[in-house]
Amino acid sequence: VAGEEHAERRKERLARNESLFREVNERIGQISDHGSFEPIEFLCECGEASCTETIPLSRSEYEQVRSDPLLFVIKPGHGTADVEAVVEEEARYEIVRKHEAEGRIARETDPRG
Ligand SMILES: [Zn+2]
Repeated sequence: VAGEEHAERRKERLARNESLFREVNERIGQISDHGSFEPIEFLCECGEASCTETIPLSRSEYEQVRSDPLLFVIKPGHGTADVEAVVEEEARYEIVRKHEAEGRIARETDPRG
C-alpha cells in the first residue's frame, strides 16, 4: 500500500507541475503579439520540473489545446502513459489528454475555467 501511496503522490506532483506550466504558457500567450502569425515558443507541459524544452506553436494550435482543461501540449515522448493518453501526434509536439481519474487537478486549476 505504501507503494500505491507513493504512486499517488507522484501523479499529484506531475499534475500540479503541469498546471503550473499551463499558467506560465497562458502568460506567454497573453504577452505575445496577437496579430502575429509567427509561432510562439511555449513551454513543454509534461510535468517534469526539470524539463525546460519549448515548443513553437501557432496561436490556433495553442488555442486548440486550451479548449479542453484536460489537454496539455508536450514534446514528443514526454508523456506519462499512466496519467494521460496521446490524442494528437505532430513532428513538433504531442497533445495529451489526462485520464478522467487524474483530471481533477487539471480541472480545478483550469485558467479559463
Ligand atoms: Zn517536457
